[in-house]
Amino acid sequence: MELKNRTEKQSATLNTKNKYKNFPMVPRVVFGRGSFDQLEQILLPKRRNSDAPFIYLVDDFFEGKQLEQRIPWLFNDQVIFISADEEPKTGQVDALVEKINNDFDELPSGIVGIGGGTLLDLAKAVAIMMANKGSSKDYQGWDLVTRPALYHVGIPTISGTGAEVSRTAVLLGPEKKLGINSDYTTYDQVLLDPDLLRTVPQEQWFYTGMDCFIHCVESLKGTYLNAFSQSYGEKAFELCKEVFLGDLSQDSAEEKLMMASWHGGMSIAYSQVGVAHAMSYGLSYLLGIRHGLGNCLVFQHLGEFYPEGVALFKTMCERHTITLPKNICANLSESEMDTMVAVAYSMDALWENALGKDWKELISKEGIRAIYRNI
Ligand code: NAD
Ligand code: ZN
Repeated sequence: MELKNRTEKQSATLNTKNKYKNFPMVPRVVFGRGSFDQLEQILLPKRRNSDAPFIYLVDDFFEGKQLEQRIPWLFNDQVIFISADEEPKTGQVDALVEKINNDFDELPSGIVGIGGGTLLDLAKAVAIMMANKGSSKDYQGWDLVTRPALYHVGIPTISGTGAEVSRTAVLLGPEKKLGINSDYTTYDQVLLDPDLLRTVPQEQWFYTGMDCFIHCVESLKGTYLNAFSQSYGEKAFELCKEVFLGDLSQDSAEEKLMMASWHGGMSIAYSQVGVAHAMSYGLSYLLGIRHGLGNCLVFQHLGEFYPEGVALFKTMCERHTITLPKNICANLSESEMDTMVAVAYSMDALWENALGKDWKELISKEGIRAIYRNI
């Protein structure tokens, strides 16, 4: 009897021990205008030898631009320019890993991703797959990575996704759009240089920035919220209001949005996103619509779920004269619609965060379809 009690007690303790996520944070970060020029110094101690290169994966917007000249290219380092026109794919990650393995006898000293969420996620995934066997599609999910990634550095050039702090690398695979979520995904080093944001086109600035705003709303209004998430979410929410509704100088707006993205990413680490993200995944999967725009297209119709957030969002759209594209889903066939609804409906954790454990009683597939039809 006593033994049984002890065993029960032990298993209760074990459950308590595993109850809270023990997630990694970025261990090193530099913030400041012009800090990109410190990259050489940061990488130097991480160079294993002159045959173990650094591989820079860079958004091809920067090809031929001044930034290219500032990349601290040493020994046999390689710079690979990559288009961010499409979201990152598992096949693309696997092809990059194969190329790097073919080009060098030595394992690289590390991978540096320079760009928006697309390049940041690609670089994370490549760093993982350089150290793990098989295809990146086998690691889409939670905690499937068994070996530490190569040293990897993230340098955002557009702000909002929070990909610079998160423990996921979102990839479009043959069967699903899903992140490689693991303790090894998070960057070892991040460099935040607000100067790099100066060239972002206005609409893209808005859409990616709204990704951050929507992270905050979904996290703060979610049932998973705790004080840890709330403290980051509230800060990011305030920063977004200053950036999109205040009268900041360009410098200040860039700096604040960069930090909003960071805090927004930290906020969802310990909670979850919600309805807009679940449905945006459907748009992205079927129609290839980019994450930031997809979130905005959905969010405008979510007044029922997030009344204050949606009202603020509309004010922000007006302030920046953003007109969202219309009739995106008007001509989809019923079977295409079924696919999109199925992708959105399968995001259990997001719906549960948004609507609680009984979410299936509060939103039906028909309800989701009706929202899509308005987009
Ligand atoms: P992006 O990387 O897709 O880039 C959008 C556009 O902006 C591209 O045309 C790119 O070339 C351009 N661009 C980027 N920086 C620029 C600059 N400084 N000057 C001029 N043009 C510039 O944009 P994003 O919105 O940051 O990323 C979207 C991706 O992030 C999606 O693939 C999404 O799945 C992913 N994501 C990841 C996470 C995560 O936690 N890992 C979170 C949210 C979104
Ligand atoms: Zn997002």
